[in-house]
Amino acid sequence: MTNQKHDNTPALLSPELLSKVQRHAAEWFCALGSRKVRASLTTDQLRDQLGGPLPDNGTNPEALTNMLAAAGMQGTVATAGPRYFGFVIGGSLPAALAADWLVSAWDQNSAVYVMSPLVSVIEQITGAWLRELAGLPPSMSFGFVTGCQMANFTSLAAARHRVLANAGWDVEANGLFGAPPIQVVVSEESHYTIAMALRLLGLGANRVDKIPADSQGRMRSDALATVLRTHQGPCIVCAQAGNVNTGAVDPLTEIGALAKERGAWLHVDGAFGLWAAASPAHTHLVRGIERADSIATDAHKWLNVPYDCGIVFCADEPAHRSAMSLAAAYIVATGTERDPHEFVPEESRRARAVPVYAAIRCLGRQGLAAMVERHCRQARRFADALRAAGHQVLNEVVLNQVLVSFGTPDQTKRTIAAIQQDGTCWCGGTVWQNQTAMRISVSNWSTTDEDVDQSIAAILRAAQQSTS
Ligand SMILES: *Cc1c(COP(=O)(O)O)cnc(C)c1O
Repeated sequence: MTNQKHDNTPALLSPELLSKVQRHAAEWFCALGSRKVRASLTTDQLRDQLGGPLPDNGTNPEALTNMLAAAGMQGTVATAGPRYFGFVIGGSLPAALAADWLVSAWDQNSAVYVMSPLVSVIEQITGAWLRELAGLPPSMSFGFVTGCQMANFTSLAAARHRVLANAGWDVEANGLFGAPPIQVVVSEESHYTIAMALRLLGLGANRVDKIPADSQGRMRSDALATVLRTHQGPCIVCAQAGNVNTGAVDPLTEIGALAKERGAWLHVDGAFGLWAAASPAHTHLVRGIERADSIATDAHKWLNVPYDCGIVFCADEPAHRSAMSLAAAYIVATGTERDPHEFVPEESRRARAVPVYAAIRCLGRQGLAAMVERHCRQARRFADALRAAGHQVLNEVVLNQVLVSFGTPDQTKRTIAAIQQDGTCWCGGTVWQNQTAMRISVSNWSTTDEDVDQSIAAILRAAQQSTS
């Protein structure tokens, strides 16, 4: 890059700069469907292009934008594209991306109403819409956090507040030293972000009762019943809607009844699985979730908005607020309007509800249902084709996740490496109940059946090379 001489005083934001960014972004976006999915620059090449000594003098913003855009064309992975099936990623709906640009331009701090009435109002509208789409009671409070990790954290902070308050302990004031013990129950298939949230909350990642799961990764309610009988007093149960490997959902109705009987707080991690509720054909999978005390989910996965965006829902608004709100002398609550920071760990924060608003407004209830249904159907299309070619599908494909084995662990690993190198699509590896497997997650709004078929062909080619 040219370290063009620049007078070090930031120039006014020029229309030329914005239209240049727009052209670069459009070029990148349009290439998503045809480029190789993997990055095509090596780490060393990226360091060479972008690194060097700390610049003494500034660079002209247009030159800088050109440099970043060039690196972005080759250094990114096309995770936002139609043939990325790794992890559970999702893309950005055009309307959500456009709204996100506005959010950046506005640069609103949405901690409190007085800083941004617009964002406070949009957050309120969007939270209510999401609640309705997920079939949750209108009385549930909500907060927009950075992702499901923080949604799990916020949920479990509210849980910690309530179960200890019921035992006469003020955890926000006094912390956990000397507090009544809490029985924390998780599944052996709980996502690792549950363990992280427990760590951060002082509840301990390992100080838990771990319930075994069935062949699909669902918590066994008979085993839960037994464990819940072993203790009395404060108790938190963590269930899951949407296993990251199989897509399976815990038996939430049964778990809910057991938690209620025990007087426990029921939390459900529904990072992507919650959105099964948005599709009439899949909503039965998450039946019972509406009776949870807290639910954590993501918008940046299946709802296809840009990073970073997760949502926490809580049936106990006082517990939710008590765990999160923090009064400062210079923050005077309006009393009537929503101060978004009261529901999340952060203070200063991005207006991250706005792209979600745009996504819902653009899709509508029908559009979201159609997207969820399409992804589930495309997951079955993958599974059927791979099975027909003689490969072993390891899970019941109930949602958008498929697990496949290509023979021995080595053959499966070689196949995954060959798929990633080929670049037609991208799938990652996992170990499912001691079996090395490849994982396919269909969660991008732009994936067509043709993308699926092209990817199936690439996967079968790679498997043939790697297993013959
Ligand atoms: C992705 C995921 C998380 C973590 O969400 P982030 O948005 O990455 O913080 C938690 N639980 C489940 C089941 C997930 O799939």
